[in-house]
Amino acid sequence: MARCPFAVWMEISGSSGSYTSGPFKIVHHTTEGSSAEGAFGAFRANRSDPHFTVDSSKIYQHIDTGRAARALRNAAGGVQTNRDSAIQIEVVGFAHRPKVMATLKNVQKLCNWLEAEHGIPKVWPNGLPKPAVNGHDPGGHNRNAANWDNKGGHYGHSQVPENTHWDPGYTATEAAFVIADAATESIYIEALETIPLEEGPDFATEVSTMPDHCGGYAAAPAAGEAGPRAKPKVSARRTSTPARGSGRTAAKAGRSSARKSSASKSKSGSKSKSTRSQSSAGKSSARKRSAARRPATKTSKKTRKIAGRKNGAKGATKRAAARASNMAKSSRRKSQDR
Ligand SMILES: [Zn+2]
Repeated sequence: MARCPFAVWMEISGSSGSYTSGPFKIVHHTTEGSSAEGAFGAFRANRSDPHFTVDSSKIYQHIDTGRAARALRNAAGGVQTNRDSAIQIEVVGFAHRPKVMATLKNVQKLCNWLEAEHGIPKVWPNGLPKPAVNGHDPGGHNRNAANWDNKGGHYGHSQVPENTHWDPGYTATEAAFVIADAATESIYIEALETIPLEEGPDFATEVSTMPDHCGGYAAAPAAGEAGPRAKPKVSARRTSTPARGSGRTAAKAGRSSARKSSASKSKSGSKSKSTRSQSSAGKSSARKRSAARRPATKTSKKTRKIAGRKNGAKGATKRAAARASNMAKSSRRKSQDR
């Protein structure tokens, strides 16, 4: 039905079939990795493609929005998941980490387009997705199946019936930001300070605290979603993919995120004015200037205040990363093929 005019078209495994019911909804995932290239490898290996993958510099489209994607688990019986008019977006990043401004701006732009194209309301019918607690699944997700079946809007993977993953782990601000109208910024500017401008130096080596995402579900083909022609292909791909995939993908992942973190730094300043109201843009560029010349030497009172907040957030992020890195040591080997 539709290809996004500003997305890079990149078919991987194809669709899981036609939709069986509606209304249109948008499902937000995190890739649980630090690069789009790494995610593509996982989609290829597991046939778990979303419609879109979004990072800080690009929006990739893998499946036409008129056909079903395949990143959700669909149990026998119950409601349809992938095929319930669910347009799926994989956001490059981790459920347990703060998302990056440049990436969320791309998600927002894509959501704005999808909402207009498919008449999707700017609401979260099962409530806001829940963010991580101490870097882990907060539990208690609302996966109301009647809402899912009957109400258009936005859902986290964590809010889809028959599913157990807890991505994307958006904070309330992140959840409000991705559904905000890009032309008329509706997020309270102070709240935006909690969204980091950059991925951070440890992003490329970060390890998911949900290592089975992008593989756990699709590895065992879900009942009734992949057409009969899909199965033989799965085994054919499996034998060839891991051998040439894993090493190269990991190397690429490192290079690509290094490139991206410098790219987002230089890009964000020029983009901000077009997507925010004037007063927001002013404050926001002050914030960006302070970030650009960190550590700050000469700063206005306002900038210092903002920088203080940023450093606080950064400290928290570092602490979280340190915790994650400790946990990662034990699970790194297991998740390296992602
Ligand atoms: Zn997911």
